[in-house]
Amino acid sequence: MMGRLRAMREPLKYVQGRDATLKFHEEMGYMGKRWLFVCSNSGYKACHDKIEKSFGELDDYRRYEVFGGISSKGEIAKMEEIVKADNIDTVVAVGGGSAVDTAKATAYYTGKHIVIVPTVAATDAPCTGLSVIYNDDHSFDKYLFYPTNPDAVMVDTTVIANAPVKFLIAGMGDALGTYFEGRASIRTESASLEGTGITRAGQALARLCYDTLKTYGKQAVEACKVHAVTPALEAICEANVYLSGVGADNVNCAAAHSFYNGVTSLGIKHADHGCCVALGTLVQLVLEGAPKEEFEEVQNFCLEVGLPVTLEEIGVTTPEQVEAIAKNACIPGETIHNLAGDVQPIELYDAIMQADAMGKIALGK
Ligand SMILES: [Zn+2]
Repeated sequence: MMGRLRAMREPLKYVQGRDATLKFHEEMGYMGKRWLFVCSNSGYKACHDKIEKSFGELDDYRRYEVFGGISSKGEIAKMEEIVKADNIDTVVAVGGGSAVDTAKATAYYTGKHIVIVPTVAATDAPCTGLSVIYNDDHSFDKYLFYPTNPDAVMVDTTVIANAPVKFLIAGMGDALGTYFEGRASIRTESASLEGTGITRAGQALARLCYDTLKTYGKQAVEACKVHAVTPALEAICEANVYLSGVGADNVNCAAAHSFYNGVTSLGIKHADHGCCVALGTLVQLVLEGAPKEEFEEVQNFCLEVGLPVTLEEIGVTTPEQVEAIAKNACIPGETIHNLAGDVQPIELYDAIMQADAMGKIALGK
């Protein structure tokens, strides 16, 4: 049998910095003259004036759609209509996950350019080549995989610094999984998230992601609390958005993300995606039999930046819930199966209980 082809994919262009959106047209103008901005409410408020300023006297067509929904089939179809009716060249997402996924899907289905302007650094979605699509009743429909990653991603770090710090912390949780989940996938020679062989470049980005979190995480949290754009904040924005997104795409996920999926299957009010992934990373380390030093290093990082180390902190309170998480995290197709061995729900259950117990000790409970 022929071996799997290795591949590396990432956005064609990545731009980041203080008031970056003031240079929106300077950096992205090569993509056309007719623009559709798919904005979340807060994204519109944070970026509209700066993006407009970047066009100066130019008479490019700009349409801003403020959008409060999720990336559902209906919303995407609505945006597709606008792209066709207004003869749009480039779709731009301005906002968080829902705006990003809606804009990505719209651009893909209409064959247009796509630029992502994330206004929070809460997940690694902006740089990835996939979206989560929902049905109109808000139930999960599918992961939509694209043939390439976005044309460009622009991160205005002034905007990130002015968003609530909880988003930056959640983004660090999502980024925390990248190296450890990637390492697990590499150990078993699993495919990347995009289904290709894993490159050395992908591995290096995942490693750099973790190193950057450890070096600058705490400082970035303090910077964000006072809305300061500092080198530490810049480093964490790059880790959360670029290193984690491109890293994860080019390695793979493992138990930490399956743990998150298990938590969402409970249908309870739970902590943000990244916060669950952080605890899931600790669970994965237990499951892998990681040495004490490594577990403590990751747990200390979580404590330092304010990520959860116990079940209670993410909203899980009963053993029955843990059983359900373990069962649903191990269904066929879950990325937990990128781990060595055929992980069984009982093994995951026990790992969750140990990680939680060690978290309680760390918190003095
Ligand atoms: Zn994630």
